[in-house]
Amino acid sequence: MIKALFSAPIDKWDKYEAPLHAAFALKGLQVDLSPDHAAEDVDYVIYSPHGPVSDFSSFTKAKAVLSLWAGVEKIVTNPTLTQPLCRMVDAGLEEGMIEWVAGHVLRYHLGMDAHIVNPDHHWVPAVPPLARRRKVTLLGLGALGAACAKTLASLRFDVSGWSRRPKDIAGITCFSGDDGLKEALERAEILVLLLPLTTETENLMNAERLGWLPKGAFLLNPGRGALVDDEALISALDTGHLAGATLDVFREEPLPQDHAFWPHPKVTVTPHIASETRAETAAMVVAENIRRSEAGEPLLYLVDRTAGY
Ligand code: NDP
Repeated sequence: MIKALFSAPIDKWDKYEAPLHAAFALKGLQVDLSPDHAAEDVDYVIYSPHGPVSDFSSFTKAKAVLSLWAGVEKIVTNPTLTQPLCRMVDAGLEEGMIEWVAGHVLRYHLGMDAHIVNPDHHWVPAVPPLARRRKVTLLGLGALGAACAKTLASLRFDVSGWSRRPKDIAGITCFSGDDGLKEALERAEILVLLLPLTTETENLMNAERLGWLPKGAFLLNPGRGALVDDEALISALDTGHLAGATLDVFREEPLPQDHAFWPHPKVTVTPHIASETRAETAAMVVAENIRRSEAGEPLLYLVDRTAGY
């Protein structure tokens, strides 16, 4: 019998218990998910950063730590973690992110705010351009960034993206590396951040790089708060260089009540709900990785500890 520990908040257990048992059965695995296993007997840790386990040193037999989160910045530098770490790539998470990104891109593209909040009943028949005339750039072309880029391209937006290593994605203008960043930003009328938070990406969108965006650009950040220099962003909004920002993630969450983002007229705050791992699909990912590990096959979505994601 395989022993796994579900290290996540109790409300997650309510969501995951049945899907995990169903997924293990589908994969032909016998997995005991008792919360009472001694740490040294556990074969796999199913991990959330909000769960009880943060010291992995006593999990001496564990063959992998399986994160329920796509972003692993809270665990990747943990010095007690010697076990292989897999991040979450989940079809449900991807679908949710596509919807959030497409919704907010369309909001800015169509200028919807002017019609939703129009207290003086102005009749201004300004027709928005077609999507094909709107340049959208995604920083990050991984599981989520590439999926969002493809959906935006299917809506006919003029989509480009930027990644660490060169990529070739049909219908997307791809940039990479330090050299590609300026070009990717200079064309971004709407910019979407879907990068992981690493030492390389922290504060990537500082005053200088925000300045590379075209005047009147919009910024969407469903990636991680610390990708953006908060003060530089507020300053770019105040000077009118940027026209608006929708932020889902923050350096401190919940976003403190006295933070300047809350009252800012050009900022929309969403409370880290762009997407989330969905239990039914994620349980299958966890089960597949346990199956692979038990069969001696390579794990899926293994984190590169050196790169930090
Ligand atoms: P992936 O690891 O699949 O993709 C990351 C992308 O970022 C890759 O294209 C990668 O390049 C690129 N990248 C990483 N470092 C650099 C760098 N230094 N320079 C240029 N490009 C870089 O991650 P996901 O797409 O699954 O997730 C992205 C992030 O979204 C997560 O890390 C998390 O922070 C956030 N997230 C937010 C959620 C929310 O609800 N707000 C929900 C889920 C995730 P390359 O392809 O070359 O490796």
